[in-house]
Amino acid sequence: MSRSVKRVVIQTQQRLRTLLRDYFVDLDAAASDPARRVAWCTSVGPCEILTAMGFDVFFPENHGAMLGARKVSHKHIPLAVAAGYCAESCSYMTSDIGASIAGYSPLQESYGIAGTPTPDLLVYSTNQCREVQDWFSFFGRKHEAAVLGVCPPTHLGRVGADDVAFVRKQILNMVSQIEDSFKLQMDWDRLREVVALSSRASTLWLEVLETARTRPAPFSFFDGLIHMAPVIVMRGSQVAVDYYETLLVEMKQRVADGVGAVPAEKWRLYWEGMPIWPKLREVSEKFFDLNAVIAASTYCNSWAFEPFDGGDPLEWMAKTSIEIFINRDENTKQAFLVDMFQKFGIEGAIFHNARTCPNNTNSRFGMAQRLREELGMPILVLDGDLSDVRFFSTAQSMTNIEAFIEQLEGRQR
Ligand code: SF4
Repeated sequence: MSRSVKRVVIQTQQRLRTLLRDYFVDLDAAASDPARRVAWCTSVGPCEILTAMGFDVFFPENHGAMLGARKVSHKHIPLAVAAGYCAESCSYMTSDIGASIAGYSPLQESYGIAGTPTPDLLVYSTNQCREVQDWFSFFGRKHEAAVLGVCPPTHLGRVGADDVAFVRKQILNMVSQIEDSFKLQMDWDRLREVVALSSRASTLWLEVLETARTRPAPFSFFDGLIHMAPVIVMRGSQVAVDYYETLLVEMKQRVADGVGAVPAEKWRLYWEGMPIWPKLREVSEKFFDLNAVIAASTYCNSWAFEPFDGGDPLEWMAKTSIEIFINRDENTKQAFLVDMFQKFGIEGAIFHNARTCPNNTNSRFGMAQRLREELGMPILVLDGDLSDVRFFSTAQSMTNIEAFIEQLEGRQR
């Protein structure tokens, strides 16, 4: 066990480093090869149609997270602000736009490549937020590339057949537009294969997450933030499926051996909302020191889709894309959280109030308070941001987390 970073290192992570290097180096090669095409896609967008049509797919949100984790977002955001983007709008978007204006990418240092791959096409879905439309439009103008989008109904309670049919039609129209623009033909058998792989990786990912229902939890939210990369950027590939099969074996072994992500696990917590990428280490080590494991989160579950039954791949894509948590109404979200708290034996929850992402923040309209009252559960609302450190006070947050754990201790006495 390595304790240098105060976490129990997962061996499969060695493989992840190689996978990510191969993925980004290959994307770089695709961008400079006139015979290949690169598409950019949002993280819960219709990437399967792009893969099935032969595009190499890049996910800018992953790049935004890298900028945050490298603690360089705040240096680049002012460049986006100078270009007319509000400093309080999505810091993934503003840091990514600013970094592109500065000609910087963490991919240069990590993989020795030129940076983000130049897109031939950009595809978004507003199932998560409208910001992605503006974000992708910036790069569409910059690279003179087509920008196509799916705009599903949002804030859904019940997901009806009419909602699914509406989105399916939009995705089908997108396929036709891509076929016309790039003189391509969709191979529907290939799409079915890609969707089956996408679904398989997602199902395995869910199984990995669910191992944390065990006490001690073998896998924490902070582990999830590292290991979720393939289910996002390699969705629809055999490589991602193989990766999660290996990871699941390791996690099941941990369960059998009683190995916990936090060895002296005392408290089981839930993380609601976006990660705080620039402060992950400080925050994770604080919980580690307090013997508290973040056993489950909404964020890591965002890529856990229902299995594909082998039927209509477009219908599966449409349905899974609008059923995601972020696209649901308050009552559905609250019911999801109650269910998760029960399933994972959660004793307290952290709601991250991410200042530049109201879309994936659920502490703004009373939900934390309603859950406190309904469940009698301590809930801490932590102010911060996914990427912009200017919205996060380390000292204040650490004090708040300590006081929160004391509150849990006090309830036990
Ligand atoms: S969901 Fe939030 S973090 Fe993600 S792209 Fe939209 S505004 Fe940005």
